[in-house]
Amino acid sequence: MRFGGCVAIICVALMLSSCALSPAQPTVTATLAHKVSTPPPPSVTLTPFQAATPTAPSRSTPIVTETLAIFPSVTVFPSATPLPRKYVFPVQPAAVAQYSEGVTSHGYPAIDIFAPAGTEFVAVTRGTIEFVNYEDRWQPENDHPAFRSGLAVSLLGEDGWRYYGSHLSAIAEGIAPGVVVQAGQVLGYVGNSGNARNTPPHLHFGISRPTYAGDWVTRRGEIDPFPYLNGWLAGVDLTPQWP
Ligand SMILES: [Zn+2]
Repeated sequence: MRFGGCVAIICVALMLSSCALSPAQPTVTATLAHKVSTPPPPSVTLTPFQAATPTAPSRSTPIVTETLAIFPSVTVFPSATPLPRKYVFPVQPAAVAQYSEGVTSHGYPAIDIFAPAGTEFVAVTRGTIEFVNYEDRWQPENDHPAFRSGLAVSLLGEDGWRYYGSHLSAIAEGIAPGVVVQAGQVLGYVGNSGNARNTPPHLHFGISRPTYAGDWVTRRGEIDPFPYLNGWLAGVDLTPQWP
């Protein structure tokens, strides 16, 4: 018994030193757990082993991060080959677009993206066309809020969000409810239809949750598009988040 006990102590001690040298070996850990199930001598404690393990490996390669907030510094790690983007800025070419934070000017979350009439309004992400307003039925006399959009397209993205663009001058050929579109596909063209008749051409852009057809209060915009427009413009695939 005495001799066996000594062997056990030596074995555990050897294993402890072995563990300290290579803490990542799972088999050593399992054996140790089995051995200490019998009452260990006071000289053998787990403290040195536990103290040896938490040493974190040093990193020589910097970690590349994408900063979400208002994108003061967005670091994009370049891919080996160009990959299709999941999100695209809704007005193309984006270089002609001008916009600013739009919550205060609208009274609800939405942004007017100003661009020359006829500039392309494209799908920000892959999805299905939900509805299309093909004709401008707005009349200044009654100013019916459901018709203020003029020509408009609503896209239900595969990400679950609805993307809405209005005041268009024309709807792109083939765009109709139920049609599946890819990110970057042309949906229509910037204009000033609806109650934008007397304002410079722009795309009213709103992001909202899907609701029933005709819910113009929701579709005009529920969450602030500003940080997402900034991200997509910078080439970062940002999926909208509920605030
Ligand atoms: Zn607007």
